[in-house]
Amino acid sequence: MSVFRRFAPVIPGNALNVSFEFFPPSSGDMESQLWESIMRLAPFNPEFVSVTYGAGGSTRKPTLATVERILSETKLAPAAHLTCVNASRDEVDAVAREFWGAGVRHFVALRGDSTDGIGSSYRPHKDGYRNAAELVAGLKAFADFEITVSAYPEKHPESPDFMTDIDMLKRKVDNGATRAITQFFFDNDTYERYVERVRRAGIYIPIVPGILPVHNFGQLSKFAGLCGATIPDWMAKRFEGLDKDPQTRSLVAAAVAADQVMNLVERGVQDFHFYTMNRAQLVYAICHLLGLRGAQGNAPVTSIAAA
Ligand code: FAD
Repeated sequence: MSVFRRFAPVIPGNALNVSFEFFPPSSGDMESQLWESIMRLAPFNPEFVSVTYGAGGSTRKPTLATVERILSETKLAPAAHLTCVNASRDEVDAVAREFWGAGVRHFVALRGDSTDGIGSSYRPHKDGYRNAAELVAGLKAFADFEITVSAYPEKHPESPDFMTDIDMLKRKVDNGATRAITQFFFDNDTYERYVERVRRAGIYIPIVPGILPVHNFGQLSKFAGLCGATIPDWMAKRFEGLDKDPQTRSLVAAAVAADQVMNLVERGVQDFHFYTMNRAQLVYAICHLLGLRGAQGNAPVTSIAAA
């Protein structure tokens, strides 16, 4: 069915919940881009906006600064990502305390990747939390944070099988996580099968699909395999020949992501987490197609290519 025919029925936007993920900026220009994106998406009244934690804890300060600015300059509820890479329990707990002191009450708690790069085998710090389940327990022991964790519809690349993978998710939930956000995926059947497996394992928290609008298909192709995400052949075909045509690429990306989320809505999904890559325009368009309307009216229109 054509993606556009699916848009015909009015989608009850107010029945849907969205959240947006941003990364902390590393320069003044990036800071401006981040804040333009946050302010453009804010009127959609997201359930929360999350700020990632750089590989190996490299962005503790900018993550904290971004979250503090969100708290002081907006009405948005921030969630700080936190990993346990290369850090003892005491060090991670100290970071959690610092964030608590700044007003953070929601963590996206993650193990993180080896500093040798995604795909290299992970070695926990000798005095550290060994995985995200242990981190969740540590955070909950410190304060009653809201805790979101990761989930992997195609299983994490280090998991030998789905049972091991879902067992880790169960441990995270048993330790206090109340929501999981998935790794990005492009095949909705895969997501649905995964949610069925998770429910069969007795896990009932929301498994929120992580939606990645594709800004650069070439980069994504290199990156996806390492994250354990498959790029379907049909998707590669849709982006074929557009490497030097960013404007058409953006239009195709919007259609692909819109098709995916509309199909998920048809399957009954009501919560969506968007990996924004600090760019608002594609996510804005998709939210609009979902029936969401800015609380303060529609934000000014800018060109997709410029976003
Ligand atoms: P865990 O939940 O601890 O483990 C993930 C899976 O790996 C488990 O299912 C488990 O079965 C398997 N596993 C782990 N260890 C072993 C082992 N020793 N043997 C066998 N199987 C094992 N990274 C960042 O650096 N910063 C971020 O801000 C960030 N945000 C993210 C947000 C989301 C929503 C997602 C999905 C990922 C994010 N990541 C981030 C990436 C994440 O850190 C990596 O995917 C990492 O490899 C795993 O972290 P985790 O918390 O999922 O690990």
